[in-house]
Amino acid sequence: MTSNSSLSTRDQLVNWHPYTQMQTAPPPIGIVRGEGAVLYAEDGKEYIDAVSSWWVNIHGHAHPHIAERVSQQLRTLEHVIFAGFTHAPAVELSERLLRLLPANQTRVFYTDNGSTAVEVALKMALQYWYNQGIQKTKIIAFEGSYHGDTFGAMSVSERSVFTRPFQQYLFDVEFLPVPVPGQEAATLVKLKQILAQNDIAAFVFEPLVLGTAGMVMYSPEVLDQLLQLCQEHHVITIADEVMTGFGRTGKRFACDYLTRQPDLMCFSKGLTGGTMALGVTTCSQQVYDIFLSDDKTKALFHGHSYTANPVACAAGLASLDLVEAASFQQNLDRISAAHTAYAESLTGKPGIKACRQTGTILAIEFEVGETSYFNCLRDQLYALGLENGVLLRPLGNIIYVLSPYCITQEQLTRVYETIDQMRLLVLQSFSA
Ligand SMILES: *Cc1c(COP(=O)(O)O)cnc(C)c1O
Repeated sequence: MTSNSSLSTRDQLVNWHPYTQMQTAPPPIGIVRGEGAVLYAEDGKEYIDAVSSWWVNIHGHAHPHIAERVSQQLRTLEHVIFAGFTHAPAVELSERLLRLLPANQTRVFYTDNGSTAVEVALKMALQYWYNQGIQKTKIIAFEGSYHGDTFGAMSVSERSVFTRPFQQYLFDVEFLPVPVPGQEAATLVKLKQILAQNDIAAFVFEPLVLGTAGMVMYSPEVLDQLLQLCQEHHVITIADEVMTGFGRTGKRFACDYLTRQPDLMCFSKGLTGGTMALGVTTCSQQVYDIFLSDDKTKALFHGHSYTANPVACAAGLASLDLVEAASFQQNLDRISAAHTAYAESLTGKPGIKACRQTGTILAIEFEVGETSYFNCLRDQLYALGLENGVLLRPLGNIIYVLSPYCITQEQLTRVYETIDQMRLLVLQSFSA
């Protein structure tokens, strides 16, 4: 294969990549095949996918069980309009999901991705009050949160350089500090102040781990307290489990750590095992009932051409087969234990500012005095990982591991060794 016919070269003439400054970004790596935790590139190189390809691929690449189920579905029914019609994959996926979710969740609404799952949750929450003629219009979100890239989802996310060009179009949100260890009381006080306003429609949150913020973690106990306050003030609670869902936190769902149950839940990333784009918003009967009326305008007016696509739902069902297999929890426990041991080995080492872990999510914050170095360092760390055949995407000075659950111990060791090298690189960069 000549270099100017490579995927990478042809890509650079026609594609526009997400979150990428196209002028300065290195050429994209052409991937021709995936298996387990490994991606195979067109130049023969191999990469351990330690970030599950943006957190979606929970069972490993090209999983044969999912592939089989998807191909069967493709030959049976590839798509059908979901207004006025239904099909087995959507019915079964909803039935099975609801059996796994907190008991108060009774209805499933399908969309195409995590952002739209959040959009729908926001619309459900706002219209829940509107349908009752009650003036509650404000939304609470965490500082630093990320809920997606559509306008509603951006509005309830941290304002940053990413959202700056659209700032004036984003609606106002009450931002609440994350109750990280030691800050719980301050967050509770602030929430009480906000709730005293009486015009709060909903509280949207990433349970236990704020992913894009840099894997910022807080306890289930304080989340239960926040939920209790919201529920006492009749505020709709929305758990955005787009990242935390399907095992990431060491249990099936982050909300499995809670005693309280959210009114609405959002899922996407792990839902199809990283195979097809699919999102769901689930809700309690109490929310659902407010949309029932002889008045047609009280319906939820939201939908997508590919709502509940049968092939995507089939991928979701196949993924759930794997989620419900005995080996699933064993893998979560194995990875969690490996992370804990590795994090312990790092404590006190120079260059390490903090280590955080929730289940299979490990985050390591490097000590970097001068913040002006940041971007350059981030790119260097990323490149070092790729040179080692490990795909790790630093968030600033934070490196995290969010691997497929099939990752082997040997592969995990490779990932940890790469992080060790990153630490040395950080030390070199900031010494002298
Ligand atoms: C990724 C993510 C989203 C957005 O999902 P997309 O499928 O990328 O639109 C929303 N919320 C959380 C917590 C996420 O991690």
